[in-house]
Amino acid sequence: MKLSAIFRRRKTFNHGIHPMEHKALTAGLPVRRLFFAPKMIIPLSQHRGAPGIPLVKVGQEVVRGEPIAKAGGFVSVPMHSPVTGVVRSIDELVATAEGPKARAIIIETYPAATQEVLYQAPIDVDAMTAEELVKAVQACGMVGLGGAAFPSHVKLLPPEGKQIDILIINGCECEPYLTCDHRVMLEQTDCMIRGIRMVIKATGAKRAIIGVEDNKLDAVAHIKTALPTDSEITVEAVVTKYPQGAEKMLITSLLDKEVPSGGIPADIGVAVYNVGTMAQLGELIPKSRGLIERVVTVSGPGAKKPGNYLVPIGTPLRFLMEQVGTTSESTEVIMGGPMMGMSVASQDVAITKGVSGVVVFERDERDHPVYPCIKCGACLDACPILLNPSMLGQLAGVRQYETMAQEYHLNDCFECGSCSYVCPSNIPLTQYFRIAKAINREAKTAA
Ligand code: SF4
Ligand code: SF4
Repeated sequence: MKLSAIFRRRKTFNHGIHPMEHKALTAGLPVRRLFFAPKMIIPLSQHRGAPGIPLVKVGQEVVRGEPIAKAGGFVSVPMHSPVTGVVRSIDELVATAEGPKARAIIIETYPAATQEVLYQAPIDVDAMTAEELVKAVQACGMVGLGGAAFPSHVKLLPPEGKQIDILIINGCECEPYLTCDHRVMLEQTDCMIRGIRMVIKATGAKRAIIGVEDNKLDAVAHIKTALPTDSEITVEAVVTKYPQGAEKMLITSLLDKEVPSGGIPADIGVAVYNVGTMAQLGELIPKSRGLIERVVTVSGPGAKKPGNYLVPIGTPLRFLMEQVGTTSESTEVIMGGPMMGMSVASQDVAITKGVSGVVVFERDERDHPVYPCIKCGACLDACPILLNPSMLGQLAGVRQYETMAQEYHLNDCFECGSCSYVCPSNIPLTQYFRIAKAINREAKTAA
């Protein structure tokens, strides 16, 4: 081996943090399917953009995979039935993990049904044009499965005057506890590569780089063996550091380029997709099917049977928790990872397309008193985009929300949680910033 290769530094970005990973709980466990819940809750707003429009009526029988709602606009996707059963109600306002209540379709599962997906006939993906591929991606209801839930087809059509040259495929999975992307890279490698090839064709990108944190070198090696040496798709290990999986950070790490403040990756010719999204596209598009299930990591000290589970979209969290079991009566359940996920007030919420993990804590593990800021500067050292979280926190305390946005770049904050994590005073900085952004948005709408 050449000396330069030995001393070559692995790619990364400045700042960030190193939280305990806790991935060993589930990283070695292959994906397993759980039972189907007797009742499925399918919110019509599982993505950014307008809610879906129901295509079914109360009392109608549906088969697994059948479209039950059409897209409500361009930045929207259709929904498909996760089970064979009967529509029990529509329009109920159900609780969601994100907070606001949403309209949903409630389906009662037929217990005796085989739950095979027999809906739609396979298609020849190689014969599809780029335009047909974009339509197929929207028709299958795909959103970013890494947690962003942004409709995937929208990224295939960058704003006028912009061209996608490079795809970054995000296999970092930098949140503690989560391992579903790791398992997907190991278990669904061929589907993932097929999905990437389709997106290369649809966007006209010249190449794709799969970025994987170096705590998953088995996945790097496995993907490399599945790719020809002259492939337009390459895989690169990046430093294990949080938030390496944030799209702007990963772009900086792999390409040494920065997305401009307030901009999007397409501004510099890049589109970022999650590995799970690619694997699902590679599986679903050739079969002409919709997104009806996803891999979810269920983990944390409060989960009795941590693992990676194939969960139908719409499965109630309460049902999932009953299957996995909890170690204590008093738990705190986070949808997503512990850094960026949401603590849920009720288990009557559904697993939606963007839920990559469910992390269970015994409640007193996360209850910490909040103290005043001691001006230690730890949050400044942690912020990957060089904001001043301490100053932003003080301004939030005196409700100077507009100043936060205008003078301290509040809107560039992508709520990674690094500043809150390192704060010795336990100040919930990220929550303050989320609230400040929401208040500014409301004020703008009202103006
Ligand atoms: S939450 Fe926002 S301010 Fe805090 S570290 Fe992350 S990007 Fe910076
Ligand atoms: S980490 Fe916390 S205590 Fe330290 S400067 Fe930032 S807000 Fe203040």
